[in-house]
Amino acid sequence: MNVNQHGLSRHIPAAIRRAVRQRDGFGCVICGSALIDYEHFDPEFAQAKEHDADGIILLCTAHHRQKGTFLSEDTIRKAMDAPAAKARGFSFGPLDPGTTAPSIAIGGFVGEDVETLVEIDGHPLFSISAPEVPGGPFRINAAIYDQNGHMTLQIVDNEWRVGFDTWDSEIVGPRITVRNGLGDIPLQLRCEAGKGLVIERLNLAYKGTRIIVDHEDSFRVETRSGQTCAGSSVHVKGAKVGIQITGDSLALGVSGGRPISMHIGEMHFNGGGSRALILTADYLARAGKISTKAFLLATAAR
Ligand SMILES: [Zn+2]
Repeated sequence: MNVNQHGLSRHIPAAIRRAVRQRDGFGCVICGSALIDYEHFDPEFAQAKEHDADGIILLCTAHHRQKGTFLSEDTIRKAMDAPAAKARGFSFGPLDPGTTAPSIAIGGFVGEDVETLVEIDGHPLFSISAPEVPGGPFRINAAIYDQNGHMTLQIVDNEWRVGFDTWDSEIVGPRITVRNGLGDIPLQLRCEAGKGLVIERLNLAYKGTRIIVDHEDSFRVETRSGQTCAGSSVHVKGAKVGIQITGDSLALGVSGGRPISMHIGEMHFNGGGSRALILTADYLARAGKISTKAFLLATAAR
């Protein structure tokens, strides 16, 4: 049924869907799961004459199915007053990176089998742990902050979480979009089950360092002292750290004694300083194009 007896279409306008998400903390009112359906609760869709946010709630697929059979209306009404995601502080969903080392793309910077994808002053912002038991899943952990110091997304052992105090968080298919306002997207990522993650848009800020992704195949790192490194199609495999920022220095592809390989499609450095940019030892770079105005130390010694 795409239109009810009053001629109302199933399609809920975007602004109403957002108002419902914001009110319910972006999660199922019963459990807080971020994988939700919009449910016309009061009145039911069949009786509704308009899409009114007050009568629509978020329910996960499981609780949606249980409504009226295993889950009473009374329980749902109580949950509407105190949605689970707000009580927990976040809505959440699963990640399944699989049992082979996952690949995580920060736009055009792709790390495969990289322990810590981003590390700032020794603090890992994105890391991948080996399975706890042989044959078990790899584990992704992350903390992504925006320019306001707000955590846009946290990943705790493959469970991703979005704070209920975020302006908006929307899940469509495999894509998570976090918004700070209309058109202001500090994070958009795509989950690839069994493979990893692709960060399609990013405006990350942490202790004065920024990492920006405007397009899926680009990335830009800005250090605290204003040096920038931008590129596309950069692949790092087997490294201990993908992007490492310590003080004012930036290192890409830190091997940590592991054999690693690095392919650079395109990369540009701009800036100055005594120790601006370092491509770390033990890498195998096939540089397509590197331009630099900065002090650049590229150490290829093995
Ligand atoms: Zn639920």
